Amino acid sequence: MQKPNNRLENQTCIITGSSSGIGAAVAKALGAEGANIVVNYRSSKEAAEEVADEINKNSTSGEAIVLHGDVSKEEDVKELFKKTINHFGTVDVCVPNAGLQIDHPLHEMPLDAWKKVIDVNLTGQFLCAKEAIIEFMRRGIRKDVSNSLGKIIHMSSVHEEIPWAGHANYAASKGGLLMLMESICQAYAPHKIRCNSIAPGAIKTDINKDVWSTKEGRENMLKLIPYKQIGVPEDIGSVASWLASDESEYINGTTIFVDGGMTCYPGFTTNG
Ligand code: NAD
Repeated sequence: MQKPNNRLENQTCIITGSSSGIGAAVAKALGAEGANIVVNYRSSKEAAEEVADEINKNSTSGEAIVLHGDVSKEEDVKELFKKTINHFGTVDVCVPNAGLQIDHPLHEMPLDAWKKVIDVNLTGQFLCAKEAIIEFMRRGIRKDVSNSLGKIIHMSSVHEEIPWAGHANYAASKGGLLMLMESICQAYAPHKIRCNSIAPGAIKTDINKDVWSTKEGRENMLKLIPYKQIGVPEDIGSVASWLASDESEYINGTTIFVDGGMTCYPGFTTNG
């Protein structure tokens, strides 16, 4: 993994759903770059505090705080940004990461399961991006801190590209996210806002624990990964810290797949 080098000093980052999994790893990676970090959680305050404690212990220049908020609720997202700005002065990087799966075959999927996944995975990311853009434009550019006005890094999935039977609500939310991200880039790149997505493949977290925690599940997962390795949250953290920094300044409106080659459709290796 890349060594941190304080590429985000004097910048403030909100990472939603960062009390666990990929969000926690992203929060730690950005914290290791010297940024101020907001660890957002919906239900696990204790876990969020553990993430913040670890960042505070290791950070040379930033501070980590914990803030509650359900990203699917507009008033919560507004409050999350308001409290962040009150505490740190502004927001420079927003990583809408919170997400969930509620799986059913389509013909058995209750409307509630459809709505809940869209509300968190897509509407939640819209609400966060909207508040971030409002704050970036209010504050204006700070050339001493970054060449960009602000950075948004959506946590997407390989399922913005790969259809997923039995998970149509999840795949639709991530497919929608692709168009949200590209539309934001198209509209706000002239303002020097960068908006990109990271699309993880199979990463060991709670969201897919029922699969990787059994031998059979792991073997099935590996069949989908040409690199023959299940990812870990830190694989995403290191990409996020680079994507948030000026080292990736000319990257805008793009999805970076971090998937060990999953989107190369290994099922076709022997001509299908
Ligand atoms: P996770 O379950 O550990 O993390 C999801 C987090 O989102 C949890 O902390 C959860 O509490 C939080 N959350 C859920 N609903 C929320 C809400 N309404 N408001 C605020 N927070 C909420 O799983 P993860 O794998 O770390 O997932 C993080 C993101 O990565 C998700 O968007 C997921 O779709 C995406 N992703 C994960 C994988 C993978 O293989 N793990 C692959 C592709 C994409």
